[in-house]
Amino acid sequence: MHRTDIAVIGAGIAGASVAAELAAAGRRVTLLEAEDTPGYHSTGRSAALWILNYGPRDARLLSGASRGFFLSPPRGFADHALTRRRAVLMIAPPGQEQALAAMLAEGEGMRALGPAEACALVPILRPGAVAGAAVEEDAFDIDVAALHQAYLRMLRAHGGQVVTGARAEALTRRNGMWEIATPAGAFCAAVVVNAAGAWADVVAKRASVTPLGLTPMRRTALIVDGPPGHDPDAWPLVGDVAHTWYARPEARRKLMLSPADETPIEPCDVQPDELDLALAIDRVQAALDLPVARIEHRWAGLRTFTPDRSLAIGPGREEGFFWSAGQGGYGIQTAPAAAKLAAALVLGRDPGALGLAEAARLADPRRFA
Ligand SMILES: Cc1cc2nc3c(=O)[nH]c(=O)nc-3n(C[C@H](O)[C@H](O)[C@H](O)COP(=O)(O)OP(=O)(O)OC[C@H]3O[C@@H](n4cnc5c(N)ncnc54)[C@H](O)[C@@H]3O)c2cc1C
Repeated sequence: MHRTDIAVIGAGIAGASVAAELAAAGRRVTLLEAEDTPGYHSTGRSAALWILNYGPRDARLLSGASRGFFLSPPRGFADHALTRRRAVLMIAPPGQEQALAAMLAEGEGMRALGPAEACALVPILRPGAVAGAAVEEDAFDIDVAALHQAYLRMLRAHGGQVVTGARAEALTRRNGMWEIATPAGAFCAAVVVNAAGAWADVVAKRASVTPLGLTPMRRTALIVDGPPGHDPDAWPLVGDVAHTWYARPEARRKLMLSPADETPIEPCDVQPDELDLALAIDRVQAALDLPVARIEHRWAGLRTFTPDRSLAIGPGREEGFFWSAGQGGYGIQTAPAAAKLAAALVLGRDPGALGLAEAARLADPRRFA
């Protein structure tokens, strides 16, 4: 039996970041990952964007509180910059003007643009497809692999360990400790942090803890060649205000497309559906003059939501059991602040000291009692 103070289950961005923060606070931390490679599931499949005006209030608060970390990480955390500036352009085709007005009214730091200005930013936009637009200029791309690796390095540098091939199969509370059975051995910890992404409710049930009612949802993405005669590298991400598609510039004059699908699905190694790939191309081509001769790469990932789509960070009702789950479509961009919040709650510290009291209240997992 390997003894540790805190066992974190799941080595995606949620688990890696909270494990690193807890180790840095002086706790013995073991990070248990079911797969052979940390980051194999959602964390390795994201669109890698930070957008302030995205998601429910708690996600926006945590994204805002993470901004400084991304732009200026602690000394020695990462070898190079974690971000690259990338504006976000949301267009309203005829019929979506009301949704655009609502987005502008509630958005922070967004600017309204006319059709001509939007088409100047993304020259392949079809003028007839744009009734109006909004731009968020201070958004950015995140180097997700570098962020994730940096947290794993931080964990190890503070004496923590990462155990792969260690799917938590049974969790038993005995004498004030959790005993966790995995194929890589048995672990014993006073505290468990459940950061198992799409599997977080599965892990809860294995611990005889009440699940939250999480729903994993499939999202599809594909990479295609950029439009002939253009270099989209400096273009903004562009999508519609109703969130039915988006296109994001990639390296080597490519574009990543998504139909912004949300298909509920059991947790699994999710693969893209042909229909969603076709839907992505169809919706993008209705707005952009973009010939698609072939799909270079395709994938799907799971975005896992709580019933109210806010995150679930903090203690459960059961002793020694904490959650960092329900990261939805904002798990990367919220990670730095979410990890600090989760660690503070595990350590019994006041989230108000981090300026995160409201986020802590909104994300309290006990609201699903
Ligand atoms: C197409 C797409 C685009 C996205 N774009 C963005 C974006 O632009 N910005 C953004 O912020 N977010 C984005 N997201 C969302 C983001 O990827 C997720 O919110 C985030 O990766 C969730 O991280 P996680 O650590 O909770 O989950 P995961 O990365 O899935 O990690 C959970 C880990 O738990 C492990 N696990 C499961 N069960 C067990 C067990 N019993 N024992 C041990 N380990 C276990 C799994 O193997 C997995 O590695 C996007 C997602 C998708 C799919």
